[in-house]
Amino acid sequence: MKVEIINVGTEILLGSIVNTNSVYICKKLVEHNIIPTFQTSVVDDLELVKNAFQIAFERANIIIVTGGLGPTEDDLTKESLAKLLNENLEIDETAKNEIFNYFLSNNKKMTDNNYKQALKLKNSDIIPNKNGTAPGLFLELNGNKIFLLPGPPSELIPMFEEYVLPKLLTDKHLIVKTINTIGIGESELETILRKIDMKYPEINIATYASYGYVEIKLIGESDNLIDLKTKMSHLINIIESKIHDRIYGFDYSSLEEMLVDKLIRLNLNISIAESVTGGIITSKITSISGASKVFNRGIITYSVESKVEELGVKIDTINKYGVVSEQVAFEMAQGLFKRTNSNYCITTTGFAGPEVERGKKIGENYVCIFSNNKANIFYNQFKGSRKEIQEKIANFALNKLIVQINNELTLNNF
Ligand code: ATP
Repeated sequence: MKVEIINVGTEILLGSIVNTNSVYICKKLVEHNIIPTFQTSVVDDLELVKNAFQIAFERANIIIVTGGLGPTEDDLTKESLAKLLNENLEIDETAKNEIFNYFLSNNKKMTDNNYKQALKLKNSDIIPNKNGTAPGLFLELNGNKIFLLPGPPSELIPMFEEYVLPKLLTDKHLIVKTINTIGIGESELETILRKIDMKYPEINIATYASYGYVEIKLIGESDNLIDLKTKMSHLINIIESKIHDRIYGFDYSSLEEMLVDKLIRLNLNISIAESVTGGIITSKITSISGASKVFNRGIITYSVESKVEELGVKIDTINKYGVVSEQVAFEMAQGLFKRTNSNYCITTTGFAGPEVERGKKIGENYVCIFSNNKANIFYNQFKGSRKEIQEKIANFALNKLIVQINNELTLNNF
């Protein structure tokens, strides 16, 4: 199978947008053991897009195209392909009605050129777009599969997952399982995994490192579902037997999702007072559905006064040890606990830079986790831009909180 991705759009070539569609499609394909062979970006120009199609037909048999399906004159993807195939575009009545209804239900005014989006090539199938007006198109030509998808990622991603992937994986059953690990490096994990006898060629194992945690992804594809399920469970059991103390869950997509789920299951709650992270931890947690069951309070105590007024940090402590200190992180957490009585109180204080203030080290920070009348305080000095440092501190805090919850309570069933 030879796959070519064509991204149509002058904005991409001007550098005004990042080609995230291509990154997304490549990653998704690789997850399913399909390695794309070619990738082309092309400006909104009828002849050049037509040429891109021609080249792709010569060297690939799956062609996935993004962009240029909109209503404006510079949206030319279908027109270019029609010209290459020497065909006329025709209106698809169902698509036309759907576009009409989309505008109606969104209280938007429809213009004549929107009907352009209902044009299709002969023998092509419409790929419905639930999140926008431009439907996609699918056609098979001499055994080649061609997918035309809209540019906006919010429209493309669901269409790719619901329509394109299943078409590429026909007749195969697919099982994807994620094992979430914390406290083990990616290379150490790889060494352990390599030693495990991988006797199932239909199951691919890969590791993906994020800050402070690593995901093990098992991707199995087979035409025999029962057999695949048995092999998958067997492999997971083997991996668990080697690294069970590093496994913090299955099929979570982020640390915050893992944390919120654990807190809900254990009926525990948390409060957070953030200085250096300025609300990032709160934002991550509240982005997870169900967070209201476990999240008590998030306060941004950025200034010295706010630490004193909101949390009762002593001004003497700040004067004596400095605002970025173990003592201040501790008093913030103690004050937060007094006010909220939460099972876990988390605080952050640090310098994110980039300006260097005298006597301060960029990236230096303290995270305090207060629970059961005991404070665990962590010191780190992270490198990177201001944003990266803040992100690292937030992830570190989430990571340590998950580990602490697991250490304090035996979880049999996560
Ligand atoms: P529309 O109906 O919105 O015009 P379209 O299929 O014609 O959809 P384009 O006009 O090419 O798509 O792009 C619309 C928007 O989609 C761009 O302004 C950009 O924000 C986003 N977009 C397009 N291509 C990409 C890409 N390759 N990666 C990320 N975003 C993209």
